[in-house]
Amino acid sequence: MRDRQRIDPTQFLRDWSSPLAKFNSALIEHYTGYAGGRFLPSAGKSTFKVIDPASQEILAELPSFGGSETSAAVESAVPVLEDPAPLETRARWLTEIARAHVDNRDELGRIVTLENGKPLAEAKGEIDYAAAFYRDAAQRLDVLRPRKLKERPKGLDWTVYSRPAGVAGLITPWNFPVAMLAKKLSGAIAAGAPAVVKPAEKTPLSCIALFHLLHRLGLPPGMVNLVFGDAPAIGRVLCEHPAVRVLSFTGSTAVGKLLSAQAAPHLKRMSLELGGNAPFIVFDDADLDLAADQLMTSKFRATGQTCVCANRVFVQDSIAAAFTDRVVERVRALQVGHGLEEGVTVGPLIDLAAFQKVSSLVDDALGAGAQALTGGRTPPPAPDKGCFFPPTVLTGVRKGMRILGEEAFGPTVPIARFTEESEIVRIANDTEYGLAAYVFTRDPARAERVISRLRFGHVGLNSGTGPTPEAPFGGMKHSGLGREGGEEGLLEYVELQTVPHP
Ligand code: NAD
Repeated sequence: MRDRQRIDPTQFLRDWSSPLAKFNSALIEHYTGYAGGRFLPSAGKSTFKVIDPASQEILAELPSFGGSETSAAVESAVPVLEDPAPLETRARWLTEIARAHVDNRDELGRIVTLENGKPLAEAKGEIDYAAAFYRDAAQRLDVLRPRKLKERPKGLDWTVYSRPAGVAGLITPWNFPVAMLAKKLSGAIAAGAPAVVKPAEKTPLSCIALFHLLHRLGLPPGMVNLVFGDAPAIGRVLCEHPAVRVLSFTGSTAVGKLLSAQAAPHLKRMSLELGGNAPFIVFDDADLDLAADQLMTSKFRATGQTCVCANRVFVQDSIAAAFTDRVVERVRALQVGHGLEEGVTVGPLIDLAAFQKVSSLVDDALGAGAQALTGGRTPPPAPDKGCFFPPTVLTGVRKGMRILGEEAFGPTVPIARFTEESEIVRIANDTEYGLAAYVFTRDPARAERVISRLRFGHVGLNSGTGPTPEAPFGGMKHSGLGREGGEEGLLEYVELQTVPHP
């Protein structure tokens, strides 16, 4: 670490001098990639634009990097592996990174709101959530200490070492640009594995801001690296370069499968956090106010653009009307707008493609006989307007409607009815996804019967909460491989080495 006295973690924000809303290409040298401890030259590169989804204003124009910069970044990371930092040093780095998040939460949060659209309070919450991953990893490093077996097989001592697995390629999505990186980078740093990070091109600004903070923390050159621009070219290098031993990806199932296929001949360790289609099941013995409150938390975070958000709401017949009334009342209280405006609780969708997807699912359901109790059919936004879709509660939703089969990634609440416990488990599992599910019942025996049969990696019982740094989180089936968070999240980035010795 460099002398903390000389580090002002907010300096980079003052250097940028103008409010982020006034980002422009004249400042481009500040918004660039990072490799081997230095910001990458950007002169002469082709560029891409980052857009505020709530206003369609251009926030920044960034240089586009590709395969050659990614190879160079990987190679700059290799020397770090020759002399991995001791656990105590890693713990200090993780603690410092957590503190850098907290010290800069207002500005980092503002950048997330500008590039992603989520309300400011939520964006700041994301920064706190991200900080917690680094803090938690710092406290969990004992799991990586050498472990001597109690037994002495073959008359020898046996010691198991956790070695950094190699360079880690980390590819993240736009819906939690800071937190999804934190889940991966905290694990990699804890394991002593240097990382090459590729954020989503829709939301790279918060990640770049974070790298300015990391730069000031004085990590060894090559420990953290950043590239963005030509996603397929970057992805190919991360899949094929022999020094990359772990590829951790969060995003769509389609891209996850593509990366899996590309990496297969190179036998990389893959950690894949992919799409979801979460059922939210409310039984007739549930606390309906609690269930409605938890549905709101689960459903509308990031405008419904989260992998764990309730995507299909199943309500037992006898309480369907009472539960729907409670949901509608709460949805009517939501306020849609630009995330920087006071009081806004729901922001825009990320782009026009997202708007069209949500719109087509709602149209399909309405065309097949569903009714919209709030929101509903919405004309596309004008080119200079944000992609706002109204929170939409649909009833009369039935099997066969696309909205039950596809991940909407938007502010839709399709409510379908069910009759029997046995039937709902089968319906909930009838998806290729297996990420999150939610069950509301006051009966512990029913909860155990249902949850043990659900094929989902995360099941909230009378709770709509998503992941937390302390617990492993990940998907079954086409929702992914591996886990993030908890001890398991750190172990994704280590190779075990067993040493028998007299
Ligand atoms: P996406 O797959 O389009 O993009 C994710 C990342 O992959 C981005 O950085 C993108 O630039 C990159 N990418 C795209 N094509 C690539 C290629 N050919 N090679 C390498 N990288 C490539 O997904 P998205 O639209 O950004 O995110 C939404 C999806 O992510 C949803 O399906 C959601 O459920 C999922 N998600 C899952 C989790 C989880 O923990 N399971 C968390 C958040 C989001």
